[in-house]
Amino acid sequence: MTKLSQLYGSNVFNDAVMRELLPKATYKALKKTIDQGLPLDSAVADVVANAMKDWALEKGATHFTHWFQPMTGITAEKHDAFISPTADGKAIMEFSGKELIKGEPDASSFPSGGLRATFEARGYTAWDCTSPAFVKDDSLCIPTAFCSYTGVALDKKTPLLRSMEAISKQALRVLKLLGNTTTTKVITTVGPEQEYFIVDKKLYDQRKDLIFTGRTLFGAKPPKGQEMEDHYFGSIKERISAYMKEIDEELWKLGIAAKTKHNEVAPAQHELAPIFSTTNIATDHNQLTMDIMKKVALRHGLVCLLHEKPFAGINGSGKHNNWSMGTDDGMNLLEPGRTPHDNKQFLVFLCAVIKAVDEYADLLRVSAANPGNDHRLGANEAPPAIISIFLGEQLQDILEQIENGAVTSSKSGGKMEIGVTTLPALPKDATDRNRTSPFAFTGNKFEFRMCPSSGSIAGPNFILNTIVAEVLDEVADRLEKAADVNAEIKTILTEFVTKHKRVVFNGNGYSDEWVAEAEKRGLKNTKTTVEAIQALIDEKNIAVMEKHGVLSRAEMESRYEISLENYSKTINIEALTMIEMAKQQILPAAINFATDLAASINTIKATGVAADMSVQTELLTEVSALAAQFKKNIVTLEAAVEKAENTHGDTFEQAKLFRFDVFEKMGELRGVADKLETMVDKDLWPMPTYSELLFNI
Ligand code: ADP
Ligand code: MG
Repeated sequence: MTKLSQLYGSNVFNDAVMRELLPKATYKALKKTIDQGLPLDSAVADVVANAMKDWALEKGATHFTHWFQPMTGITAEKHDAFISPTADGKAIMEFSGKELIKGEPDASSFPSGGLRATFEARGYTAWDCTSPAFVKDDSLCIPTAFCSYTGVALDKKTPLLRSMEAISKQALRVLKLLGNTTTTKVITTVGPEQEYFIVDKKLYDQRKDLIFTGRTLFGAKPPKGQEMEDHYFGSIKERISAYMKEIDEELWKLGIAAKTKHNEVAPAQHELAPIFSTTNIATDHNQLTMDIMKKVALRHGLVCLLHEKPFAGINGSGKHNNWSMGTDDGMNLLEPGRTPHDNKQFLVFLCAVIKAVDEYADLLRVSAANPGNDHRLGANEAPPAIISIFLGEQLQDILEQIENGAVTSSKSGGKMEIGVTTLPALPKDATDRNRTSPFAFTGNKFEFRMCPSSGSIAGPNFILNTIVAEVLDEVADRLEKAADVNAEIKTILTEFVTKHKRVVFNGNGYSDEWVAEAEKRGLKNTKTTVEAIQALIDEKNIAVMEKHGVLSRAEMESRYEISLENYSKTINIEALTMIEMAKQQILPAAINFATDLAASINTIKATGVAADMSVQTELLTEVSALAAQFKKNIVTLEAAVEKAENTHGDTFEQAKLFRFDVFEKMGELRGVADKLETMVDKDLWPMPTYSELLFNI
């Protein structure tokens, strides 16, 4: 036990370490910056840098790096050695406050969406002291924000930090008006549940699609999928268990509170969830988690797939973003308590979230959009791409009371009798769970379930923070002007519920009826990333981001460009990989099989025996016909790719071609290949099949 507690956070320059290693005055000054957002003095930075360096050297670090999150969605790091040669041919270890606070990576190789002219290559990284530094792979890693020479955000973290300030400011105004005099800061918290697939590295290496795109571009359905529902929460296999154990240890060393692990619904699919933390720290931690999951897998001869849809026909992976608002004095603002109906504060924050989600559903939708997630949201697999909120029976009942003008009671869960006298009667939750809602209230937080498994959670969270800040701003304005605050609260709640109840849906979100019903209610069902991205240049959305200082118009426009470019590039790589596999592997396999069949016919004929060769002839005819169709589809796909690649100048037009032409043709090519796979001799098939990939561990 003690061992584990010693391990936890051992590679983190955390509060305890700072308190121990920093002079009292320095520690106090730094804490002020961290807790109250006050600017940091450069003399303080020098002292902190020196202590950090000594601590890191003791942990075996030789380098330091500004660790940041450019718009690629993964993390970037450039390592510099601490070493500084001296005149006498020796070296000392140096790390100054300046080096801690500011870095200057060449920004020209990171996506900027036109924000940074090519001659203006300078980019800066700035220390985010609210997220602790850590040692990883012999480097001291300093979490930073990344911006251009002119100060515009080129990363995922900057808008997140800005949004945290925005929501804190507005939530505090509301709390004050509700009579709270003690809270000085409101913090948004997140616990991301991370889903992933594990495959054997030896098999992975034989599939170019997995190597280049992270998903299978071909593959016939195996005889068994997830229909037996025997994998979810199933006993964890030894090899996976050893892998999970090592991830836990690596994460714990970094102060990441990995807590829950289990098998997921699909074969070879698993989940890891940490204990929640402040949004920006949780975001950093989730990036580190994904990084470590991939690295540790390799040590076990495994590969961790974070793609949203590595395999067609079985569930894909998502990331559930559990989000809430808390105060620095320990309150959860989304905690309903035992009697939510008379919890004014809870109802105000709850209704603010409902309104925000309804009004800015398109922003939430785009925050969950990436090319991989298009295979899940709105595709033939649930969940749909419609944003709606699940509240559950108890809150639904309160909402109805609010609408009717008199809120007088809260339904309670009561006790549940199991019917066995030796088993205790369990206290029942006031609401059942709902697994099909994209945005579900789960006790004292909202679970935004649409997020892509491979994506950064910075986007969903800076958008959530900002849109809720906007509604809280409106609430605060109105309460400030009101003669009778309580009466105005009642008016606001009734108005919000009446206007925005259309976004609340407690039924089965995966049903066809809901799709029809949502359309009646006027809720959007934006099925593709390319369409969802339009929300980034919508005037209403630009206005809300600018108003709260989260993103400027130029920054929004750049994100629009980057997202479209990223979409086109992803589909382009997938299509090119498909073409290569089709021409060099699948078509030759089909021809080889046809040749074998022909040879069989000839050999039998030569014996002079009047054997029945209808099997060979029928198969030969079918395989040859499919091969011919396959070849045609390759040519059509090649033409579509060429057309899309040569559409320069308009990123939206190009992305549309990739989505509605190239992507469609990829599906047609795959269809033929998957049929061939079920006919061709297994020994001739040039790559591991779904059965092998999914069931071999
Ligand atoms: P389930 O699978 O039942 O949805 P998990 O236990 O897998 O739940 O994950 C729930 C996540 O929600 C955990 O990461 C947990 O720490 C997080 N969580 C709990 N309370 C809060 C909160 N107040 N704010 C943010 N996240 C929270
Ligand atoms: Mg879970």
